[in-house]
Amino acid sequence: MNFKISRIPLVLIILISVGTNTAYVMGEGWKAGFAKSVITPEEFMFMSGYGSRDKPANGKILDVYVRVSVLEDEAGTEGVFIALDLISVPKKMAVALTTAINKKYGIPRASVILNSSHTHSAPALDDRLSYIYKYPDPDAAWKQIYEYQAWLNKTVLETVDRAVKDKKSALVESGQGTCRFAVNRRPPIGEGPYDHDVPVLKISSTDGQKVRGLIYGYACHCTVLSLFQWSGDYAGFSSKYLEEMYPGSVALFFAGCGADQNPLPRRTVELAKKYGHMLAVSVDDVVNQKMKKVEPTLATRFTEIDLAFDKLPPVEQFEAEAKGKNFHKRMRAINILKEVKVLGHVPTSRPYPVQVWNLGNDINWITLGGEVVVDYAIRLKKELGKEKTWVAGYSNDGLAYIPSERVLKEGGYEGAGAMVYYQQPTKWKAGLEDQIVDAVHKLVNSITEQKK
Ligand SMILES: [Zn+2]
Repeated sequence: MNFKISRIPLVLIILISVGTNTAYVMGEGWKAGFAKSVITPEEFMFMSGYGSRDKPANGKILDVYVRVSVLEDEAGTEGVFIALDLISVPKKMAVALTTAINKKYGIPRASVILNSSHTHSAPALDDRLSYIYKYPDPDAAWKQIYEYQAWLNKTVLETVDRAVKDKKSALVESGQGTCRFAVNRRPPIGEGPYDHDVPVLKISSTDGQKVRGLIYGYACHCTVLSLFQWSGDYAGFSSKYLEEMYPGSVALFFAGCGADQNPLPRRTVELAKKYGHMLAVSVDDVVNQKMKKVEPTLATRFTEIDLAFDKLPPVEQFEAEAKGKNFHKRMRAINILKEVKVLGHVPTSRPYPVQVWNLGNDINWITLGGEVVVDYAIRLKKELGKEKTWVAGYSNDGLAYIPSERVLKEGGYEGAGAMVYYQQPTKWKAGLEDQIVDAVHKLVNSITEQKK
């Protein structure tokens, strides 16, 4: 199926017909810069995402990328958004990159978002999920992972540098579309809540004639494909199609609260292309309608709250599991016991990243760590306004699934079962939903206070 060719003339016509409605003169308003780099490993190595994988990748459907946008408001406040075709953002990677960016450009932690598309067809990283594999040769596999991670960090920083150098005056507009392929995957499949919104930020030349960048999101697992070939899954295809529709642009995807959402049906390359095309068309529809001009103000906030675990098993249980037959429990126990050596006890909580960017006094772009279930997006949009609230998961630290109170109570994979794969000692303690939502409100209120 090839959808994109027939659309190009329409896009061109609309590009020609849209206006010269810029209110800005050079030197005022937003500045924006973009860059992207291929982050496909040069050698075949283990892929992340599915525990059943027993050998390295052996081919490529689509390169995986890091895409970077740098926005600068009228007052000189900068925001760096790093969109990664990866399974997660390892905490260590986020710390290394945000520290380096701060040192080089003076940009604070709050002004850097790292989001992963959660594609299950990208390399294994130096993160919690890489302990789920029975590597044929663990030493060789981990050596490759460490080397790739080091190269990746360097490549991301080089890409940020190019995006910073690309900064020029820009027009920024926002809108929201709809795309319907995400299905709630918790049993009974298809009956639970979902979030089909497609938030879009369009960044164009000041005269509005040339689209330079598109930032867009969707709440659904990047799990159409489960092959041994690199790809960004449906999100990789949607960005590819958008960049073809708008030549010279960079299309940055962010993963929403899709922890309990799957693209169904799935498992063929044709379906990955189809969903990628559906999403690209949703974005394109928004771009071709009248969008709202975003005033050139950016305020950013970041905090880490302490998320507590439920009642912990005794250390003796991990000591037994570290010698046990169950592979996943054994790996988890080994990792927990390493922490016990340092802490003197089983870890009782984890720091959890919560971040808000306010764009143009209008949009609150909330980014949360881990695999966040859709209930958070639905609740935050209800409490903060559907049109002006964007919610990303999979940002800044891929520490675990983040169930809502409902999903925690129901249990199952997202509520409890997946914690072992994330090397966490047990499920989260009840109360985390209010704690996270309260942290978001505090950040939003702090921005509102500043603007008074
Ligand atoms: Zn997942």
